[in-house]
Amino acid sequence: MTRAVLTAHAVLNASRFLVLKIGSVLIRGKEMDAVNTAWMDALAQDVAELMKKGIKVVIVSSGGVALGRKALGIPADIAPGAIRLEQKQAASAVGQYHMFNGYYKSFEKLGITAAQVLLTMSETENRRLNLNARETLYTLLDKGIVPVINENDTVSTGEIRFGDNDRLSVRVAQMIQADTVLLLSTTHGLYTANPDLDPAAVHIPVIEKIEDRHVEMAGSAIAGLSTGGMKSKIEAAQSATRAGISLIIANGRENHILKTLMNDPARPSSLFVAQKSDAGAKLVWLQTHMRPKGVFTIDNGALKALKGGKSLLPVGVRKIEGHFQRGDAIEIRTLEGKKVAMGISAYDVGDATRIIGKNSGEIAAILGYTGRDELVHRNDMVLET
Ligand code: GLU
Repeated sequence: MTRAVLTAHAVLNASRFLVLKIGSVLIRGKEMDAVNTAWMDALAQDVAELMKKGIKVVIVSSGGVALGRKALGIPADIAPGAIRLEQKQAASAVGQYHMFNGYYKSFEKLGITAAQVLLTMSETENRRLNLNARETLYTLLDKGIVPVINENDTVSTGEIRFGDNDRLSVRVAQMIQADTVLLLSTTHGLYTANPDLDPAAVHIPVIEKIEDRHVEMAGSAIAGLSTGGMKSKIEAAQSATRAGISLIIANGRENHILKTLMNDPARPSSLFVAQKSDAGAKLVWLQTHMRPKGVFTIDNGALKALKGGKSLLPVGVRKIEGHFQRGDAIEIRTLEGKKVAMGISAYDVGDATRIIGKNSGEIAAILGYTGRDELVHRNDMVLET
């Protein structure tokens, strides 16, 4: 039996719930602090067409920092990576206004309301906040309002910072259970080498499964207005496809690019094909967690139990690291330090530390209350594949 070859064109046309990520370079107009109105109007029109067909669209847009550069006196030729964090944060406070205002006006011309949503990593990593943000986005979409999301750059630093919207857009897609992420930037997608440096570089239209060689092809972040470059796009694609979400990269410079991609099968782009995922939302959240709150190092007996589909009991845990509450995501490692699973801890760090190495029957006597027998229940765990 031959399997139909998936194309970005087919995936886009089959999508019912799309996260559209727009890179800084695309939205900035001729002026340093103004959006490209013609481009944005065209995008809003294309989004409106999709909405008419019942397709849900969420926009994740960069541009806060880029559009705030002028006010902060940051020269155009300095790459985002070279701007000091506090300057970036201040720039985004100015530029976010210009950016959102641009979207608001373009959608307003079509009788559609746009809503500004600023997220930090906490909303995507903390399950309670995650559910909360998800409900907000669903409520907006139910009302026919287009959410325009960006990272809340003015308050996001260090630990709680994504830093690039490629990965943020995938986290948003996972959070709202969208089926497709379209990253619009200034490249047609993945090439065998950097096409700007190597004339022999060949474009790759479909990536069925991301392998190490693809990660190598992506190289490291490039200079210019963009933050992530191909490296963060590949990481985003890995996270998306593992969670059953397709990811497409396309060059978005032209006006009406969304319409063109929907209508023209020959338009170049790179599709990263969604892997089969039957994990529910909670497990997808867990699997793709970026900053676990702690680490459980387990013995070989527990490792065998986990691989056999069992829960993690306190008796099999040798060491606990980190500071976590009950319900936080924990990385589970072997004695050799290899990550084998992600799980949700049924106990906080204090209680967990007191019961490890003990039989579950002793938990009540040690803690003074009857808790769960398992430290991480089977249903709250995803094994590494
Ligand atoms: N949040 C940043 C901004 O609005 C952009 C990050 C990125 O370019 O991916 O400027």
